[in-house]
Order: sequence, then C-alpha cells, then structure tokens
Amino acid sequence: MSVALEFEPLVLRTRDPFGIARGTHQTFENVLVRLRDGTHVGWGEAAPSRRYGEDAASVQAALTRVRGRIDLDPFALEVCERELARALPEDGAARAALDIALHDLLGKRVGLPLFRLLGLERLEAPPTSFTIGIASREETRRKTAAAASYPILKVKVGFPGDVEAVREVARSSGGKRLVADANEGWSREEALERIPLLRDCGVEWIEQPLPAGDLEGLRRLREQSPIPIVLDESVRRAADLPGLAGCADGINIKLMKCGGIREALRMIHVARALGLKILMGCMIESSIACTAAAHLAGLLDWADLDGAALLAEDPFEGMRLEGGRMRLPEGPGLGVGPRGPANGPGG
Ligand code: MG
Repeated sequence: MSVALEFEPLVLRTRDPFGIARGTHQTFENVLVRLRDGTHVGWGEAAPSRRYGEDAASVQAALTRVRGRIDLDPFALEVCERELARALPEDGAARAALDIALHDLLGKRVGLPLFRLLGLERLEAPPTSFTIGIASREETRRKTAAAASYPILKVKVGFPGDVEAVREVARSSGGKRLVADANEGWSREEALERIPLLRDCGVEWIEQPLPAGDLEGLRRLREQSPIPIVLDESVRRAADLPGLAGCADGINIKLMKCGGIREALRMIHVARALGLKILMGCMIESSIACTAAAHLAGLLDWADLDGAALLAEDPFEGMRLEGGRMRLPEGPGLGVGPRGPANGPGG
C-alpha cells in the first residue's frame, strides 16, 4: 500500500511572548505533515529550531527531497528511519515529523493507541512541568499565578537578574516544585555562583547551565553543583550519550532534536544503561508533536511537555493536561486530530 506525503506550513502563536536566554518570540513556523494510505491519515509535525540549523523552509526542502524516494511504510519503521537518517542527517525536525506520522499510521492500521502498541501500559508517568519564560517582574508574577494548576514550574534563567526572577516565582507560587533552564546562558563563573542561590530557592535541578560544547566546564561544574545537572543542547541523539560521562546527571530528549520516536526510545535505553535520569521536553508545538512525546511518558523520570499548553490557540487536540497530569487519548495511533469539526487543517 503506497503512502502519499503531504505537508504545509503550520504557524503557531504563543499566548505570551516566549523568552529564553537566546531570544524572545511569539510566532513559530512549524510544518504539518500528513501521510495518506487511502484509508487513514497519519499526522506529523516538525517544530524546527535555528539552534539546530533548521527552519520551516529547510524542513519543507528536506521533505521535498525524500518525497517519492523513500517508501514510507509504517511496518518498516527501522528501514524508513535508516533511509531517512542517510538522506537527511542534519534535519532532525523534518525526520521527526515523518517518524511521528509513521507511528500514527502504524497505530491506526492496527487499531491501537501508540503507548499500548509500545507496551507502555500501566507505567506511571511523571507530571509535566510548565515553563515560565523570561519576562518582567510583573509578567513573571502574572504567569506564575496563571500556572497555578501545574505542580512543577520550569523557570528560564541565563540572564542578568535571573536569580531574582526565580525568587519571585518561588515566593508567588507558594512552595511549588521548581526546576530551571539556563539554555547555555551562563559562563562557568556565573553558573558556579548562581546554582547554589537557585538551590536555596528550592530549584531541584538545572538544565544546560553552560554552552553545549563546554564539556570540560560541565564536568567541573557537576563536581561542585549542589543540584543535578541536566543537559539539553549538549545532546541530540543516542550516540552523543557516552561522551557525556561525568558531565551530567540527566538528559533532555526532544523528538525534534533526535529525529523521532525510534531514536528517542534508543536514547532512553542508552541513558538508563549509563545511569542518567531522563527528561523529555518539546519545542513550541501543537498537540500533534506533544502528544507523540507523551506516549513515551511512562519511561521518563521527568516531563516538560507543555509546548501546546503555551499556545494562544492549538489547531489540534490530543493529550489533555489535568493539573500537570498527562491524559493520553484512547484513539488509535497518536489519538490526535484537528480541533473542531470543520475549522482545523483538513484531513
Ligand atoms: Mg532546555
């Protein structure tokens, strides 16, 4: 049964401007993918990041390059993945969109939700954190109040005044669990100075305190850090993990960095073997990509799958969040679809 690949831009806006150490944006250009086999539609999404050398144009160029050249067969996921990795080695988000759509199609062909198909029934999933981006003091307070239903807040740091921002969140959230993400925004000295201050605010772990390539700095920092260090930008795929020995206590896996569910599963197993904690994160993305990641939630220690919850309007529906708990849809495949009967993207 041959599968037809269709794609189109998917422009998403966050409810508030979303600020991290690298910059602030409110509009995000993703790419929507559909795989049609004549009976079912497999949905996929790419949320490209310039940090990893991709944007909506490069994703669409990549999809054009492989369309009609690779047999997208959901029962041959391994072969598809190998061929896609060879054809598009640096296009993690483009490959992730195809891999997500193939898994959706696989579940629909056999009539099972993906988590069940993967044998992940009865595992307990961690709650997802909700991200408080970089903003003014007043905005930070407002965002913290708006996040009242989430049990864990992830505060973006890596800017002058960040410790004060975390103190503000700690004060105004009334004792919620806190984690922090510097997105490579500190020097070695700043990290050494600020991490203990964050710990004093109750921050449980710090993500990517130093630039991705400063492994020597990360190794030394980890020896002195009073809280665990989780690496995000330093790790893209399973093959990166052995080289991080001694630099990290945990890793942040994202479908858009690694190329999809297949590679994410591989990373989870390699990380476990290396004694690393596992966080799964996301980009700013709709319920398609967030739900795809959430199907693996039972294998995680921590989850940060709030990308769709940050949107002004999510054109898709899938996973629901109840007080930070991820409720997966019971429909086959990802269980996602356009929001509302007529006004979402067709399919
Ligand atoms: Mg991060």
